[in-house]
Amino acid sequence: MDQQFQYIIIGAGSAGLQLAKALLDLPGDAVKSVLLLEANENHQEKSWCFWYDKNHVYRDLVEKEWNQIGFRAEGFSTTKSIAPGSYQYINSANFAKYHFDYFKTDPRIKVVFEEVIEITSSNGMNFVKSSNQGFKSEYVFYSHPKIMHKQTEKPPVWQHFLGWKITTDKDCFDADQAMLMDFDLGDQPDVRFIYVLPFSKNSAMVECTIFSAEIYDLENYETSLKKYIEKNFTKNYTIDLIEQGQIPMSLTKLQSGNVNNIIPIGTAAGCIKASTGYSFIRNMRNTQAIIDRIKNNEKIETRVTTRKYLFYDSLLLRIILHEPQLIRTIFMKLFKNNPINRVLSFLDEKTTLWQEIWIVSRLPQVPFLKAIFRK
Ligand SMILES: Cc1cc2nc3c(=O)[nH]c(=O)nc-3n(C[C@H](O)[C@H](O)[C@H](O)COP(=O)(O)OP(=O)(O)OC[C@H]3O[C@@H](n4cnc5c(N)ncnc54)[C@H](O)[C@@H]3O)c2cc1C
Repeated sequence: MDQQFQYIIIGAGSAGLQLAKALLDLPGDAVKSVLLLEANENHQEKSWCFWYDKNHVYRDLVEKEWNQIGFRAEGFSTTKSIAPGSYQYINSANFAKYHFDYFKTDPRIKVVFEEVIEITSSNGMNFVKSSNQGFKSEYVFYSHPKIMHKQTEKPPVWQHFLGWKITTDKDCFDADQAMLMDFDLGDQPDVRFIYVLPFSKNSAMVECTIFSAEIYDLENYETSLKKYIEKNFTKNYTIDLIEQGQIPMSLTKLQSGNVNNIIPIGTAAGCIKASTGYSFIRNMRNTQAIIDRIKNNEKIETRVTTRKYLFYDSLLLRIILHEPQLIRTIFMKLFKNNPINRVLSFLDEKTTLWQEIWIVSRLPQVPFLKAIFRK
């Protein structure tokens, strides 16, 4: 006999954990039971960062924040305050622990560590089969695209990176400044930059980030990291932690994706922004949108972007694929010609049409015109 739950969430990652907690936090007895299914009991620790200018539900989990962010490319270098906001860091393992501890105190939620094999629907009910048992619910949320679509398309571009958390032999970092993108790596055949999160004067996460269609061997990132650290900081350092990742940069579908109340969230809903790879804030906003719809008794939809921003992202992805060497010029102009908070609003999809016309008119026009006609 399948156990029945009011809501089933598949995937205890950034999106699934946020949604599970938000459901439990709904007032009164609106939520009676939630099942959270996760394939992997061992969480892979990640550094999650995002810029934000308001208070948010996870403020207490922010371990480090930077009020200034830097950018460097082609002889242009800038470090700007992003007040009233900050660039914030959450450790994903602490984020997961916080949620699992929270769930232990609430008997309405059951957490099961088993891989989901199949989801089927019949007569308004959804059936979820895991490796060992069966469950059913009217509403099923899933964050990993493969859970529903076994043949998922390869993303056109990956954001892939290797990061070293290092301790240096002397003071090398300004702990108030995060370096968002430093393209000062010489000529590269791809889109490649260094990202630096200083935790103190002699400790930082330094990441070599690459946007390309294919993922590389470790040695490739290691060479760039080593050169960069030696050139900019010191030759004497220890590597305390290694972070490696690949984020798919795919274009979000505009339709909500809700089929028979099997509803995509997180990555499956397109919460990873195609041109930046950031998803934490989009997951937070999407969670809130779902909760608002539940509160208002509306059909649950997950639309995370608009046609306009999808178009901008698609152009940038095409330039990354066909003219990667132009990306640093494009980002350089973006940071040079606009106040920093406008750049962040644009990447956050919060600008007005007039602001976008201003931004786009100050970027190199030819690559964008060519991208319009490219597939
Ligand atoms: C090293 C690293 C650093 C990153 N840094 C940032 C950052 O700074 N800022 C930012 O915004 N984003 C960052 N990202 C991206 C961010 O982690 C993801 O975009 C985000 O986690 C997506 O959330 P999600 O819930 O959709 O997916 P995930 O967090 O990946 O969660 C999906 C979960 O589903 C589970 N699962 C998959 N298949 C099944 C199945 N069949 N049955 C049951 N469970 C299943 C997986 O085990 C996983 O736990 C980073 C990613 C990596 C890898």
